[in-house]
Amino acid sequence: MSSIKENLENITKTIPENVTLVAVSKTKPNEDILEAYKAGHRVFGENKVQEMVEKHEALPKDISWHLIGHLQKNKVKYMASFVDLIHGVDSLKTLVEIDKQAKKHDRIINCLLQVKIAKEETKFGLTINEVKEILESETFRNLSNISIKGLMGMATFTEDTSVIKEEFSVLKSYFDSLKEENENFEILSMGMSGDYQIAMEAGSSMVRVGSAIFGKRNYN
Ligand SMILES: *Cc1c(COP(=O)(O)O)cnc(C)c1O
Repeated sequence: MSSIKENLENITKTIPENVTLVAVSKTKPNEDILEAYKAGHRVFGENKVQEMVEKHEALPKDISWHLIGHLQKNKVKYMASFVDLIHGVDSLKTLVEIDKQAKKHDRIINCLLQVKIAKEETKFGLTINEVKEILESETFRNLSNISIKGLMGMATFTEDTSVIKEEFSVLKSYFDSLKEENENFEILSMGMSGDYQIAMEAGSSMVRVGSAIFGKRNYN
């Protein structure tokens, strides 16, 4: 088995400079994260707030933590002091809560809105019309401590690369059209271990790669 360091180096080689690699360390121990950290990596993604908080407390403070999974409103307060980017925001209510918690820490929290592009029932996310409604709403306009940096999406879990490619292309076109009216838009987060190459070809600027770096996850 190749090491985390080797995996990281091999993947980094295939990623252009303008694409950010988020190393998804969920379920993995701190030693694994430290191995990637010692190899020079600084951006890590977790999908559970509690786990991210514990890792943040135990690990070097120059790590940039991204929350990539679905977010429950009542968990925002635990990470508001340090989280660098929240990828999976899918409601105005959650944005209001993030804004409120960000204010308490006198900071601006960067967020991405999650768009549903997959056909599967289980994936969270907004329709493009819901995204527009949020961005155009009075409530949103009055939030001063959040910055919407762009969009995030997950493709259907399938072997059929044409389906994946199509879904990522749709998300890219949404991103491009919203960018025209939203000057903060700069991040398009799409692509995981199995499909980040396709995502980058479709215009991704941020890929979230877990198992290809850290190995398979054991859920128990
Ligand atoms: C787990 C997870 C990833 C990484 O998945 P891999 O297939 O292990 O690369 C990316 N994005 C989200 C939202 C995830 O939950």
